[in-house]
Amino acid sequence: MTDHRQAVAAAPDLEYCPLMPTYNPPSVQFVRGEGAYLWDNNDKKYLDCLSGLAVTSLGHSHPEVAAAIAEQASRLQHVSNLYATEHNGAVATKLDKLIGDGTPAGGQVFFCNSGAEANEAAIKLARRFGGRGRHTVVAAFQSFHGRTLTTLAATGQPQKWETFQPLPEGFRHAVWNDLADLEHQLDESVAAVLLEPVQGEGGVNPATVEYFQGVQALCEERGILFMVDEIQTGLARTGRWFGFQHYGVEPDVVTMAKALGNGMPIGACWAKRSVAASFQPGDHATTYGGQPLATAAARRVLDVMMAMDAPTVAATAGAELSAALEAIDGVASVRGTGLLLAAELESADARVVAAEALSQGLVVNGVTPSALRLAPPLTISTEQIHQAAGILSAVLGSTRINGA
Ligand SMILES: *Cc1c(COP(=O)(O)O)cnc(C)c1O
Repeated sequence: MTDHRQAVAAAPDLEYCPLMPTYNPPSVQFVRGEGAYLWDNNDKKYLDCLSGLAVTSLGHSHPEVAAAIAEQASRLQHVSNLYATEHNGAVATKLDKLIGDGTPAGGQVFFCNSGAEANEAAIKLARRFGGRGRHTVVAAFQSFHGRTLTTLAATGQPQKWETFQPLPEGFRHAVWNDLADLEHQLDESVAAVLLEPVQGEGGVNPATVEYFQGVQALCEERGILFMVDEIQTGLARTGRWFGFQHYGVEPDVVTMAKALGNGMPIGACWAKRSVAASFQPGDHATTYGGQPLATAAARRVLDVMMAMDAPTVAATAGAELSAALEAIDGVASVRGTGLLLAAELESADARVVAAEALSQGLVVNGVTPSALRLAPPLTISTEQIHQAAGILSAVLGSTRINGA
C-alpha cells in the first residue's frame, strides 16, 4: 500500500494500486507546474530538468498555450477527419517551413497522437513507397522508436523484444554511427533507414556528421528513404529546429511529437510530397489525429517558439548547462546537443542519484546505469541552471550516494 500511496491518493480506501504495473510505483504526485517548477501534493517545490521527458519545452502550464487550449475547448473539441478543422493546415504549413529551416520544404504532414504513432505512419509510408518485397526498415542499435509492437521491432534494444515475440517482421539493426555496418544491411528488400539525430532513450548519443551525411548519400544512391525520428530532438531542443539540421542533410521523412503540444498529446509525420504521394485515401487513419484541441495547442506552441527564437535560446542555455555540469565533482563528462544532455558519472549509480536528486527537489532521470539525462524547458534561466547544478553537486558529494 505504501508503495502505491501516490497513485491511490484519490481513493484512499483501495488496498491495491488501480493502475497496471507497467511503471515502477511513483514516489511523487505532482499537482501543479509553472515554467521550470513543479509542486507535489504536499506543496513541495521541484526544479524540473526533464520536462516530462522532453515534452514541456516551453515550461509547465505556459499561459499562451493554456489559453489556446481553453479557447478551443469552449469553441469546438472534436469532429472527425471527414471534415476540415481550423488549425491543422496552419500547423502543417508551419512545420514544413521549420523543416526547411525558414523556407518551405514542400512536404506534407499526417497528424496523430503520439511518437509511436508518428513512427507507425512513417513505417507504413515506407512500405507503401517501397512496394511488395521492398519493405525492410533498417534502424540502429540502442535506438528508441516507441512501444507499440511495430515500433518496438524498430527499436534497437533486443532486451525489450524478448517477452513480446513474435514481433512484426521487416526490421534490421546496424551498429550506431558505423556507416560500413549500415551499408552491409542494405539489400533489395530495404525501403527505408530510420535514425534519431541524437539517440535519446538509448543514452543521449549524437550521430556524427560523417555518419548522417554518409547515410543520406547511400539512401540517395539506392532509392531508399532516409527517415529521421525527431520525436525527442525536434522543435528546437538541440539548438536547431530539427536535429538533422546540424548535419546538412535533407531527410525524406521526419517524425515528431513530444514538444509539439507542450504536453497536449500530438504527433506528426512529415514527408516530401513525392514520398507522401504513395499514400492513397484509406491507407492510414486515426480518429483523434489532428483534432482541434491538439492542433490549437501545437499552433500556439509553434508561434511562441518562433517569436522567442527557440533554437537560439536552447543553444545558449544548453552551453551554460553543459559547462555547469562539467564543473561538478563526480561528473566525468557531458554529452549531447543543446538542451538534450547526459552527464556521465564517475562512479555513482545514476538511478540512485536521480532518486536522491528528486528528494532534494530536482527532477532528472538515469538514462543509463551511469548517466543522468537533463532535458529542462528551453526557457530555463541561468539562475535555475546554477540551482540545478548546485543540487546535483550536493547529491554527488553526499555520503549516502558514495556508499560510505
Ligand atoms: C519518446 C520517443 C518515441 C515514442 O513516443 P511516444 O509518444 O511515447 O509513443 C519515439 N521515438 C523517440 C526518439 C522518442 O524519444
